[in-house]
Amino acid sequence: MEDKKDYRVLLYYKFINIESVEDFAKHHLEFCKSLGIKGRILVASEGINGTVSGETESIEEYMKVMKDDSRFKDMVFKIDEVEKNAFKKIFVRERKSIITLNTESDVNPNEITGKYLSPEEFCETLQDENVIVIDGRNDYEYEIGHFRNAIKPDVKAFKEFPKWIDENLSQHKDKKIITYCTGGIRCEKLSGVLLNKGFKDVGQLEGGIVTYGKDEKVKGKLFDGKCYVFDERISVKVNNTNEDIIISKCSHCGKPSDRYINCANDACHDQHICCKECENTYEGFCSSKCTEYVILNPDKNGHLRKLKLTKN
Ligand SMILES: [Zn+2]
Ligand SMILES: [Zn+2]
Repeated sequence: MEDKKDYRVLLYYKFINIESVEDFAKHHLEFCKSLGIKGRILVASEGINGTVSGETESIEEYMKVMKDDSRFKDMVFKIDEVEKNAFKKIFVRERKSIITLNTESDVNPNEITGKYLSPEEFCETLQDENVIVIDGRNDYEYEIGHFRNAIKPDVKAFKEFPKWIDENLSQHKDKKIITYCTGGIRCEKLSGVLLNKGFKDVGQLEGGIVTYGKDEKVKGKLFDGKCYVFDERISVKVNNTNEDIIISKCSHCGKPSDRYINCANDACHDQHICCKECENTYEGFCSSKCTEYVILNPDKNGHLRKLKLTKN
């Protein structure tokens, strides 16, 4: 029988000095193309941050070549088995940083970062009611799944964290704080920011939610809902205990749902939670406003064409 899961998705990062970032990015793109790998990779002088997918053989070759490079020999790859590519294209982008904070609050995780907690240690600490648990992601990620009792920071982008910490946590500098994110990279900086601000006991979930979900002892325990991911799967299962629940609601009917879809109106494309039934009923549109017009591709002169929809 044919093996259906012959593609792999990788999630990885490494904070390490990269010289001539532009050259590196250019060659890395060629290398990925030669293997037929798709995905999104950020390169900066502070390191590399990527999520890619490809056929199992290509992905194995990719990891091998990366590990042969002394800079990345100990890079941790989180590997998921999938049935098809999770990306359509490949991008290797040159950036100022691989995780962005404003210059005045930026940290180098190789110099300062929180204590690394294994999934087991994290799970145990989660259950201590004196601990503050911070979700290091954005609100739409928190919405479909998060650790029980975690605080949802009121931030729209990662760089807003330092200000949010000042405004909301400064009275808790003596408390134990633990942070988590998807694959661990955001916590490398977030926990460093907390330490710089005078928090004394700061821990971070090593390898993030995706590693936690694969741990054979904790089995994703105390994670409610699904984990948002930045590829075509949109979300993945984490909790493999019998407590796997849905915590988010369909934006149309309010029934429990954890399906994110993009609005069918290309001019909107808003990602919204939508159950299967409502996707049919509303034809994939996020709101009644979006059902009135469909924006078509530009005409020969580059003008956008609006099509008024008529109800029959
Ligand atoms: Zn619905
Ligand atoms: Zn819309």
